[in-house]
Amino acid sequence: MNNDRNILADLVFPNIDKDIAYYEKFYSPRKEKNACVTRFAPSPTGYMHIGGLYISLINQAFASQQDGTFFLRIEDTDQSRILKNGVTEIIKTLNDFDISFDEGPINETQDYGNFGPYRQSARKEIYQAFAKQLIIEGKAYPCFCSKEELEEIRENQTKSSSSVIGYSGKYAKCRHLSVSEAIEKVKRGEKFVVRLKSPVTEVERITVKDVVRGEIEMDANNIDVVLIKGDGLPTYHFAHIVDDHLMGTTHVIRGDEWIASLPLHVQMFDYLGFVAPAYAHVCPISKIEGTSKRKLSKRKDPEARVGFYFEQGYPTVAVKEYLLTLINSRFEIWREENPDKSYKEYNVSLDEMSKSGALFDIMKLSHISKTIIKNMSDEEVFEEIRNWAKFYSQKLTQFIEKNPSRFKSSISIWHKNRMDISKWDTIESQYDYLYDEDFASKLSSFESEYQAMPHFAEILNDYLDSYDAKDDSSVWFEKIRNIATKYNYAAKPKDYKKNPELYNGSVVEVSTFVRLALTARKDSPDIYEISQYLGEEEVRKRTKILISLAK
Ligand code: GLU
Repeated sequence: MNNDRNILADLVFPNIDKDIAYYEKFYSPRKEKNACVTRFAPSPTGYMHIGGLYISLINQAFASQQDGTFFLRIEDTDQSRILKNGVTEIIKTLNDFDISFDEGPINETQDYGNFGPYRQSARKEIYQAFAKQLIIEGKAYPCFCSKEELEEIRENQTKSSSSVIGYSGKYAKCRHLSVSEAIEKVKRGEKFVVRLKSPVTEVERITVKDVVRGEIEMDANNIDVVLIKGDGLPTYHFAHIVDDHLMGTTHVIRGDEWIASLPLHVQMFDYLGFVAPAYAHVCPISKIEGTSKRKLSKRKDPEARVGFYFEQGYPTVAVKEYLLTLINSRFEIWREENPDKSYKEYNVSLDEMSKSGALFDIMKLSHISKTIIKNMSDEEVFEEIRNWAKFYSQKLTQFIEKNPSRFKSSISIWHKNRMDISKWDTIESQYDYLYDEDFASKLSSFESEYQAMPHFAEILNDYLDSYDAKDDSSVWFEKIRNIATKYNYAAKPKDYKKNPELYNGSVVEVSTFVRLALTARKDSPDIYEISQYLGEEEVRKRTKILISLAK
């Protein structure tokens, strides 16, 4: 019998000459016996989802906080769904977010590390060697059923209200073929897949363990799932078992859409005689829609796409810190207590993760981002904006390239002690008066409650008469106060507040007239600094335009 199974196994996998002992030796266990090994295992089937970034961040942080290993594995066994340059995209995203991996693909064709290849399409022979061994042991078999036959089985099960639905037990036709029948079919050239011969054939309850949810009672797997597909490549289930065994993964941290497969995976590890890793199933990042909660969707939510954060110009650190608040709500307290530490020093805890799914909140991201930007040095802001603009703002790039030192000097104007900016794509519109060289010519119409205030144009004329770009800020402000007094605007705002009926306004309004002239806005950072940055010629030009528009 065993000999027959050997013949069958050879017929099913005629090109496989290495046995599993070879691979067990080739990928001998990692040296650091107790070290933690995690992985991120995306399929290169589309742009990266924020959920992928979230999972990769958890895996990387969890391994690195224990001096472990984090590797990248590309799960590309579904060849029909693979995207051109998909691997490059994934690597680039991880690099851009500084989620470094210790092993894995480094480009579309090359890998780094001792446990590769790190893309499943290049590991076909390994999976087949393990499947071959299972056939020899009678734990797997070739299945020749057509699509129609499979449908028929299901229909019969539904009609007879069978408690088992799927290719299982007595319904699993090819499970009951004799080895010699199977040999004959393969010899005849009939098409086949290789299926697991599940040790469970009825409905049975088992308890499985998940690090996030604890012990869960579930149905044991009683389906003879496909291990090797018709194209010779493995299914996700089988590849996961073989890879995470050979690659020494200690913790499988993955999306909770896989929790339903946990009984199958645990069963397969056991069946193959491998030690199963610890599993942590992470709830997806969700959103409230109407009264219900749903997963962030690539189709409906722009923020589901990682590219969104690049385009808008959120610093990558801000996105990661925000994700950390979703991973562990304790992160926020830690951040408050350790304002100066790098987020990398925070220890992610798997069992403190949300069991129901964290809610995405862009306002919170925005707040975190503002704080991070505020705490950056002007130099860091400069580099960040320059890198961002290269890809997303031609205008800003031109400005920076033409005069980098001028751009640098502008940053402190809006960056100092202010929490205005959460993402770089607002710079251009919010500070157009600093970066648009044609700003003056665009001041074509002017409508403001200030225009109607007494002596509006005269005040601006006086400002121009007395303006000297060499004045320091105190002299400059003294001049504004003098003009205010001349036109009966209180030099001290509190005097005006006490007796508003005595004045036309206060020095605050007078400064706002100047602010309007230079920025076309009622609010802006320090107007003296803006004047210094713009230079005398531009200050005069803009003020004159406002005067002409006010008349
Ligand atoms: N390729 C699977 C996915 O993208 C990976 C799941 C896992 O981490 O095991 O969902």
